Amino acid sequence: MQDCIFCKIIDGEIPSKKVFEDELILAFHDISPMAPVHIIFIPKATVDSHINSAHGISEANSKYIARIFEKIPEVAKSFGLSDDNGYRIVTNTGKDGGQSVNHIHFHLIGGKALPITTLFG
Ligand code: AMP
Ligand code: ZN
Repeated sequence: MQDCIFCKIIDGEIPSKKVFEDELILAFHDISPMAPVHIIFIPKATVDSHINSAHGISEANSKYIARIFEKIPEVAKSFGLSDDNGYRIVTNTGKDGGQSVNHIHFHLIGGKALPITTLFG
């Protein structure tokens, strides 16, 4: 989608530090990490299937979301995160939810004890 920075990351127009990629999804390091591990997972949407936020998830596109959640534990393990110490998965949704990039994404955050109140204020 035009003017979407995460679509530009998918297209390679904007560089990113990739940690996982397949035909459906891409995971890369957040540019301003909030913890030792902070990875963003996004669906590789096309113009037709761009999912703006969690509010746009439907039966038609849920395979992208399923793939993201299938891969989160694998990626988490590869960065030393465990069931024991745990981590947080966050998706901010819309203006009031504090979403700043309107291409659905899931933050995987860990590597330190996270505040119990909301991480994003
Ligand atoms: P949100 O505020 O939930 O929409 O999260 C957007 C996230 O994208 C923020 O944590 C930003 O630091 C991150 N971000 C923005 N631009 C980039 C970029 N070019 N590469 C990696 N992460 C980015
Ligand atoms: Zn996009």
